[in-house]
Amino acid sequence: MSGPDPRPACLLLDLDGTLLDIAPRPEAVRVPDGLVATLEAVGRRLEGAVALVSGRPIGELDRLLSPLRTAAAGVHGAELRRRPEGPVERRPAPAALERARALLAATQLPAGVLVEDKQVALAIHWRTAPEPPRALLDRLGALVHEAEGALEAVAGKAVFELRPAGLDKGEAVRALLAVPPFAGRLPVFVGDDTTDEDAFRAVEQAGGVALPVGPAPPGGRPAVFAGPERVRAWLARIAAGGPILPVDERDGAEVRG
Ligand SMILES: [Mg+2]
Repeated sequence: MSGPDPRPACLLLDLDGTLLDIAPRPEAVRVPDGLVATLEAVGRRLEGAVALVSGRPIGELDRLLSPLRTAAAGVHGAELRRRPEGPVERRPAPAALERARALLAATQLPAGVLVEDKQVALAIHWRTAPEPPRALLDRLGALVHEAEGALEAVAGKAVFELRPAGLDKGEAVRALLAVPPFAGRLPVFVGDDTTDEDAFRAVEQAGGVALPVGPAPPGGRPAVFAGPERVRAWLARIAAGGPILPVDERDGAEVRG
């Protein structure tokens, strides 16, 4: 390679653990003052070539970052919005997810158990229940087993999520890079988690740049940013006219007190 890539950049950004500090519960995340304004300014500078690529549904991204609206991929790529004011396209749900939805609709849920219907995925929450709804989880687990790989069960803290198997942020990134204003630009992806590794590989295949966020980036990659605070500082510098690349090497180091 000779010299820097002359293409103008586009930014593809994970949200939790990348732009936002990780919270004990997903709904407890805090959007720091100024982040939305910074993202708006970066978007203006890049002629709209900024997208969010998250495990959260796109509707939730809109609510958290209101009034900001960007092109976006949600639920690890099961949802796609190719332009800020465009429709949210959803991958067809596997038949087994419909069976799980029907089962939940026909079941009297124990007290404190609630179902979050993300359309392309279903999450069962029991944070305020006295105990996990074991009988229900067993029946859903059996559905996953019967689905023979079409459905994936992801267990978290007091949550159990059913989603289509094989969701891939890399596919979502490739879809975004095929349309304006992203097409033809140098793609830069910033992410912190295992599911971001597919997106890292997708931008690298497009000649772009992966910027892993610490403290423990996926794939054993070294952190370019020590944490979300350093990502936000970098974006603020971009908003103020600073360079996108190279990233200041000090952003990779933990702040020492
Ligand atoms: Mg993340």
